[in-house]
Amino acid sequence: MTIPALLVAAVVGRLISTAALGDAEILRHHTIGRRLSLEPDDLDAASKDFGGTVTVAPLAVLRPATTGDVAGVVHASYRSPLAFPVSARGHGHCTGGQAAAAGGVVVAMTTERRRWERREETQLGMPEYSPSYGGYFVDVWGGELWADVLRWTLRHGGLAPRSWTDYLYLSVGGTLSNGGISGQAFRHGPQISNVYEMDVVTGKGDLVRCSREQNQDLFHAVLGGLGQFGIITRARIALERAPRGMLFADFREFTRDQEYLISLEGRPSGERFDYVEGFVVLDDGLINNWRSSFFSPRNLIKLSSLGSAATSVLYCLEVAMNYDDSTAGSVDQDVAALLRKLQFMPETEFATDLPYVDFLDRVHKKEQKLREEGLWEVPHPWLNLFVPSSRIADFDQGIFKGILRRNKVGGPILIYPMNRTKWEETTSAVTPEEEVFYLVAFLRSAVGDSPEELQKTLRYLTRQNELILGFCRDSGIPAKQYLPSYGGRRDWEEHFGHRWETFLRRKMEFDPKGILGTGQGIFQLNS
Ligand code: FAD
Repeated sequence: MTIPALLVAAVVGRLISTAALGDAEILRHHTIGRRLSLEPDDLDAASKDFGGTVTVAPLAVLRPATTGDVAGVVHASYRSPLAFPVSARGHGHCTGGQAAAAGGVVVAMTTERRRWERREETQLGMPEYSPSYGGYFVDVWGGELWADVLRWTLRHGGLAPRSWTDYLYLSVGGTLSNGGISGQAFRHGPQISNVYEMDVVTGKGDLVRCSREQNQDLFHAVLGGLGQFGIITRARIALERAPRGMLFADFREFTRDQEYLISLEGRPSGERFDYVEGFVVLDDGLINNWRSSFFSPRNLIKLSSLGSAATSVLYCLEVAMNYDDSTAGSVDQDVAALLRKLQFMPETEFATDLPYVDFLDRVHKKEQKLREEGLWEVPHPWLNLFVPSSRIADFDQGIFKGILRRNKVGGPILIYPMNRTKWEETTSAVTPEEEVFYLVAFLRSAVGDSPEELQKTLRYLTRQNELILGFCRDSGIPAKQYLPSYGGRRDWEEHFGHRWETFLRRKMEFDPKGILGTGQGIFQLNS
């Protein structure tokens, strides 16, 4: 270990043992080269997340300038007889306190780097071509936001990451710790299938380079690993040439068409769509659907003119076809040919043509609007489920047409299928066992005119989540939570199923004291 790292270790050790004695004032005077903050504002920010329902205070917030800072703080905890929890925090967009470190140190991976944006040359590697990967890649800091990665790679060679989330203001380390999915996942797999290599600080404070060829077990453990095995400080992301234009259409009808479209995945460009998503339209589903780029007030009027059809549950399919100069002339015919094979109501088709970056950044535009209306920073009792294809009709019957029918849902419900073959079996990510499974995402916001009203709505929406999970359990639907949140160890064991043994073994190996990611509630600190 280097001398600065030793220094870090010593100071942090002292800080924490002092804190353990309860003398918070003394703590305030100690900082590790100004990287360790005890400021109330920083502690407050690190105590909360996008969910807005859980507040867990750390003792200190580390703003790392280097990988050594990250390794230093974890190593200090690992070596100390008074080990303390350390959790990486990306952009804090989890919804159940998963990035928290009660009484420990939150490593704010994103904040400091964004402050350094002016020096971005030192933060992001130049995109490069690798003959051994057979493609382009870029090396990025684990706290980098995907929005910044996209801007950078477009500027340097017109390249873009292959696999996305719908919303780009999430950190690389944060989504790689979960999966990272969007309407492109059926083609390229989740973001965790599009990483070549990582630098990871393990729960012992060791900095380890890992890939599919080198330290494979750590590589696979960390991907989808819920922050349990290490802190990702660098990731090597697969890139492709960015398409220059985007045309997309939107219409009703559903799972048969969705599965048909994802089955075209291996076909050449022009014979398949590049993006397939969809959502369920219930009571206020359209008005509330800040995740769709298609619906405008004009479209709402059109839907309301559908008569009786509009009063039942509707399903909207969103598709996109990328094009460039060489395919611009044929893209309309290509889209029309694919649409002819689908079963939607013709009068409900909407189309738009927009630049690739605007398409990828579509949710951010809705975010800005919701922020203006004071509707962004509200509690978000979200529930995300992976549902096997063979039970999606039962899910529909019991949930969309049952529990949720004519009830307030509080936000968009996304639904789209993925192929399991695009997910590597060896990572920590959990999916249903079937080849095709659906993401069903209940993206709820709790709002109310008064604090009492808000709490009432929050309880109501949380109860709906419980009813949905209960329905799956009672009907034997083997749904798996994505971005999971559970109350106890037994639930986690059930979630991981036959993969629990591997998860546990890897935890013992890479984080034996249980220092990392205690906010997930899987393991406790074991000093
Ligand atoms: P955080 O919330 O800060 O952290 C999440 C977990 O990852 C924590 O356990 C944390 O300890 C761990 N972690 C963070 N950084 C690191 C690191 N460097 N190394 C190791 N562990 C780390 N998800 C999708 O897949 N697709 C979507 O389309 C999508 N859209 C979203 C839209 C919005 C508006 C929001 C709020 C969330 C969305 N998500 C989506 C969910 C999102 O991917 C997860 O919540 C993710 O965890 C958020 O990333 P973050 O950077 O904010 O991580």
